Amino acid sequence: MGTGFQPASEPVTRLIEEFNKLPGIGPKSAARLTYYLLRLPKEEVQALAESIVAVKERTVLCSSCQNITESDPCSICNSKERDQSIICVVKDPLDILALERTGQYKGLYHVLHGVISPMDGIGPDDLKIRELLKRIKTGQLKEVIIATNPNLEGEATAMYLQRLLSPLGIRLTRLARGLPVGGDLEYADEVTLTHAIEGRQEI
Ligand code: ZN
Repeated sequence: MGTGFQPASEPVTRLIEEFNKLPGIGPKSAARLTYYLLRLPKEEVQALAESIVAVKERTVLCSSCQNITESDPCSICNSKERDQSIICVVKDPLDILALERTGQYKGLYHVLHGVISPMDGIGPDDLKIRELLKRIKTGQLKEVIIATNPNLEGEATAMYLQRLLSPLGIRLTRLARGLPVGGDLEYADEVTLTHAIEGRQEI
């Protein structure tokens, strides 16, 4: 009837809203992605939708290191080649990918799934710290490397862990300076990360 403006149909609006909730995606990108998908062949959209559902349905948290895995324990915890006496504590699974890319670290990991952030209402109990303590108390650990990011929350979390773990009599280390301050581990290049691991310091 020719008034010109026609709002997007309900499924289109809904997908735009869903994309808009994702990190780093604003309303414009959300609309762009939605219209991109609308132009794709149905099979390709189907494959994408199935892979999104599969990441939730076919993965669990490793009961030991809390990393996302298809099998529990995960392939790192289960590996005979890894040094079972060292645990590197990281904020999230992406940090493990970054550290594994260096090929230098041969110990185990522990994923906190976040960092202490009073501003966002995230305290120690919201993280996988209890699980870490249990591992330290029941394992034959020699060293815990605290590899949270070198920013405010990362340092606060490292300090909290230091207070908590230092009475347990294991070697506590922190990745060497040299990582970009305020930066994320996951964006650091392999050379920088390798130096950070090799130059780790007692805390
Ligand atoms: Zn694991």
